[in-house]
Amino acid sequence: MAILVCGGAGYIGSHTVKELIGKYEVVILDNLTTGFPYLVNENAAFVEGDLGDEAVLDRVFTEYNIDAVFHFAANSLVGESVQEPIKYYSNNVSATLVLLEKMVEHGVKNFIFSSTAATYGIPDTDFITEQTSNDPINPYGRSKLMVEQMLADIARATDLRYVILRYFNAAGAHESGEIGESHNPETHLIPIVLQHLLGQREKIAVFGTDYDTPDGTCVRDYIHVTDLASAHILAYEGLVSRKVSNEVFNLGNGAGYSVSEIIRVCERVSGKTATVEYVERRPGDPATLVASSDKINKALGWRPQFNLEEIISSAWRWHSK
Ligand code: UDP
Repeated sequence: MAILVCGGAGYIGSHTVKELIGKYEVVILDNLTTGFPYLVNENAAFVEGDLGDEAVLDRVFTEYNIDAVFHFAANSLVGESVQEPIKYYSNNVSATLVLLEKMVEHGVKNFIFSSTAATYGIPDTDFITEQTSNDPINPYGRSKLMVEQMLADIARATDLRYVILRYFNAAGAHESGEIGESHNPETHLIPIVLQHLLGQREKIAVFGTDYDTPDGTCVRDYIHVTDLASAHILAYEGLVSRKVSNEVFNLGNGAGYSVSEIIRVCERVSGKTATVEYVERRPGDPATLVASSDKINKALGWRPQFNLEEIISSAWRWHSK
């Protein structure tokens, strides 16, 4: 039995593949639009193709004995989703619907879905549980919530079973130093700060200083990518053992750090000083997003292993290579 990892050549997908290899047979499906060939694990089978391509999916589900699909293949930039909503509804919703249709057709029952804290919009609490109401404020968050809703309906009507994982801010790099966070163009805070500290960017722009947070900059919950990877594997094994079925779980560290605090920790880890420019808010950004991950801890025993210092140190080791 194999696991199909859609988006396995991307940042979080490639780190999850690395954790899966040795335990499970892995097939990666990726169209390499935002993923990179060097992130394709050499111990996995690789199919280059689109998620929404029925012929490709038929081929994969026929050729390999797929037991589960881990679905990382999505566009995931809040700002871009505001500018290009059709791209987000097309890639994140329509293509996923094709994938789900093909899973049902081929009798593939287990689905692990990468969702996001962006489904919560501007939460009415500083500490977000899965009970916190969903009211996304950008097309990215809406596209993910739509898939969550589709999953609930499809699971009621078919044998498909799922776990939805709502990531907070993924960061850090694999301990091997072989893979890490890279996007093109890069828009995420920690890689941008580290690239600047390495002299690859002139300065850092901090988006907004008038948020309702202790220092006025946005507060986020940063979680190590390897901790996200381990949650996927636990979720899959939990589905197989029937410990969980059709659940949604938050994945975060439970601690919030402001943009300014992140810059300070990056300075400390790198031993360098940043040049910071304070600019306008970025559209679509809520002030504070911090997770309670109690539910997945109780259901599956998941607990993050890496704190912020370790996350940034691992990212620094990767970026300085
Ligand atoms: N951010 C920033 N400058 C940058 C990139 C990000 O001030 O160059 C802020 C962004 O507005 C948000 C936080 O850093 O408040 C984290 O943003 P990121 O894009 O890393 O992740 P997101 O929260 O959008 O998933």
